Amino acid sequence: MTDKPRIKCQWLEKDQILVNPDGQVLPCCYLANSNFLNKIDITQGDAWQKHDVLLEYTANKEDYNLNHKTMDEILLSDWFNIDLPKSWESYETLPTPCWTFCDGFQKDNETE
Ligand code: SF4
Repeated sequence: MTDKPRIKCQWLEKDQILVNPDGQVLPCCYLANSNFLNKIDITQGDAWQKHDVLLEYTANKEDYNLNHKTMDEILLSDWFNIDLPKSWESYETLPTPCWTFCDGFQKDNETE
């Protein structure tokens, strides 16, 4: 493991986003699944209880819901464009699903 995460956001790379039946827009299935698990059992998907960037999303979740905002408003929001990518810069802020699924995604190609 390097000092800093090397995130390759798999869903961003594919220009994909996830929309739940309730209109909630999430960056990917990894965050969406953990979010769903955490809603039904607080002991699961606990990334949503401990990472500031995910707590911020939850606190403002209507801002990322198609029943309240347009898709453009959501995808151009600070959370999707600034807050989430900034959380990838340090292991202290990196959400667990991003670490699990997307950190060092290309490490086999690293020369360092
Ligand atoms: S887990 Fe994080 S880095 Fe990976 S696809 Fe989802 S939002 Fe992107």
